[in-house]
Amino acid sequence: MKEKGLLIVLSGPSGVGKGTVRKEIFSQPDTAFEYSISMTTRKPRQGEVDGVDYFFKSREEFETLIEQDKLLEYAEFVGNYYGTPVDYVKQTLNEGKDVFLEIEVQGAKQVREKFPDGLFIFLVPPSLSELKNRIVTRGTETEDIINNRLSAAKEEIEMMKLYDYVVENDQVENACDRINAIVVAEHCRRTRV
Ligand code: 5GP
Repeated sequence: MKEKGLLIVLSGPSGVGKGTVRKEIFSQPDTAFEYSISMTTRKPRQGEVDGVDYFFKSREEFETLIEQDKLLEYAEFVGNYYGTPVDYVKQTLNEGKDVFLEIEVQGAKQVREKFPDGLFIFLVPPSLSELKNRIVTRGTETEDIINNRLSAAKEEIEMMKLYDYVVENDQVENACDRINAIVVAEHCRRTRV
């Protein structure tokens, strides 16, 4: 029987660069992971495409997905729902492929309960002031949203202890190399004859 894939969960505070790191990982031609596109009720940012960056849903649609148990996990983050489609994840893991989730910490906690064998990686900034700098210079949010995201980030950093690995995002390429190395090592560790 084919072995199940590994469920890889990447979290970290808002603004740490999870999205950038994830996009870099998936732009590498030899990436062997499958990205699980999340559902959200957040409005698309400029340049974001439905079905590529997220599946953009209304609150009603999202609440129906919750009721129908279609989400592996979900959380409300700074006023919007975000969630992972359960069928896609289970099916892809059953095909023996590694699935990569980029989600915030409340959702990651729920995934840990359902997939204790998942690989949980927490991305950290070099410092809090650097984090604020990154949120502000992204330039896509209003001041209120920036402040909310920054205070969420401080709480999120407290959750670091729930993760298997902590990776510093000093440079995107370095963070990607570290994550790829962790996944390779995890596969070696778990392989049993
Ligand atoms: P953003 O609005 O910046 O795209 O995402 C806000 C936060 O939601 C980020 O921390 C991102 O990782 C997280 N997020 C994205 N998709 C999901 C998801 O499916 N579930 C959960 N719990 N968080 C998600």
